[in-house]
Amino acid sequence: MNVIRIMRKLNQISKRFVNTEAKCRDRPQWIKPMGHPTEVSVYNPITKCKVPLILKTRNILKWYICGPTVYDSAHIGHATTYIKSDIIRRILSDYFNIDVLLVMGITDIDDKIIRRSIESGQNFETLVRHFETEFFADMNKLNIREPYLHCRVTDYIPQIIQFIERLIAKDDGYIASDGSVYFNTSKYNKYGKLSTLVLNTVNDQNFIGKKSALDFALWKAAKENEPSWKSPWGYGRPGWHIECSAIASTVFGNSIDIHSGGIDLAFPHHENEEAQSCCYHDIDQWVNYWLHCGHLCLKGDVKMSKSLKNTISIQDYLKNYSANNLRMLCLLSHYRNGIEFSDEVMQTAVSVTKKLDNFINDCDNYVAGKFKTGEIDENLLYTTLHDTRSKVYSALTDDFDTSKAMHAIINLVGIGNKMLHQDNVTSRSNNVSVVAAVSNYLSNTLSKFGISRSTKSTVENKQIEDIINHFLNFRTIVRIKALEQNPKNTILLKECDNVRKCLSTCGITVKDQQNDTSWSWKQ
Ligand SMILES: [Zn+2]
Repeated sequence: MNVIRIMRKLNQISKRFVNTEAKCRDRPQWIKPMGHPTEVSVYNPITKCKVPLILKTRNILKWYICGPTVYDSAHIGHATTYIKSDIIRRILSDYFNIDVLLVMGITDIDDKIIRRSIESGQNFETLVRHFETEFFADMNKLNIREPYLHCRVTDYIPQIIQFIERLIAKDDGYIASDGSVYFNTSKYNKYGKLSTLVLNTVNDQNFIGKKSALDFALWKAAKENEPSWKSPWGYGRPGWHIECSAIASTVFGNSIDIHSGGIDLAFPHHENEEAQSCCYHDIDQWVNYWLHCGHLCLKGDVKMSKSLKNTISIQDYLKNYSANNLRMLCLLSHYRNGIEFSDEVMQTAVSVTKKLDNFINDCDNYVAGKFKTGEIDENLLYTTLHDTRSKVYSALTDDFDTSKAMHAIINLVGIGNKMLHQDNVTSRSNNVSVVAAVSNYLSNTLSKFGISRSTKSTVENKQIEDIINHFLNFRTIVRIKALEQNPKNTILLKECDNVRKCLSTCGITVKDQQNDTSWSWKQ
């Protein structure tokens, strides 16, 4: 696929899901933090516009991310949320040199876990530990960095109980007759920061034990045979929202720079977290920046979910595509946008991944003297490189716009490719350093996005590369001799072709030019 087609495809992906930017509303609910400005501006779902990212502590970013509920295998819908967060984390730490402290909560007790444990006849602890281990193994396969700290809800029961006790003492929580505890939303006048529109649609009249439909459980009284913990209000277990508030408050105290999750967590989960945490800490703002990632859906905007039985497991996905491919798909669209998963969009991601990889390999071969075609316009290539660098910088400072950054990168690759593959060039001027500079910039930038090029540079690979080089040098001599004979020696040329095909099945691409041959690893 050529660059123009790829660019057109990218535009289609982006346009289809672009959120229309609402006008910045001057709503009093968001308080601009005092502290240390960064180079970045981020979209703020409270003001509905981009605002400067200001850190409370110089160069340190405290980030809490809602982790998985470990009752089943993770699917690629979950994976894209974590890949998008991982890309942003890497941009902040590797590109902007900010120390990112990422803490993830793991929900290891809830309704779904209890149901699954009963269905499978497995103890709930065995069940959750199995899926927690599998989750981190899957994340590792997708090249997602582990959080600095991951916290299981069941390890934080005393902190959760203490949190609820304080809310009850301040009259922000109340105990129902069955021993459950609820948060009193009507007492908190800032409820609805993140979700004014959703709030109006909540009209549940069938609530039992609560004072208002909006009130939510801080503590759920134990039903028969359920796992439970002792509390001042009887046996029970934490409600969903209180887990994240208690864990994040234990680690970060009364102020968090970024809190993230999928867009479906904005309401009620994040709204409730913010409400109870502000009450607990006696503050007006707990989280300074809420970051929500758009979902991966199926054709026709159908959500990928366990209950609809339409999910694709990470293991199944990896049978057909690579970790780099899924990451590339995320990079090509804005993190806030949804992505419609199909073979067609995956093919675009695969093509772009391949195009970038082939180009870097060609550059490296050119620099090593193994790729002898092309005519490099040094001035034009340096100018395009500088222009790309500044476009990537401004895209990343603008709410981590990786889609725009990738456009600039693909444009650079297009221009470089044209030069490298220009035919009928008799002599080559000495333009190695500009090609090296382009290859170096692209490798560095892609690795800062988490795109791995792991086949390079291990000692073992170096030895294999030497063997391949010796072997292909021999093949090149045979091939040139066969071409020089009159008539051409078709038997030898056919054997050379067979060698090329055999190497291709071993993951090696051999490219024959008129008087030379170059090769690269397939990604
Ligand atoms: Zn959470």
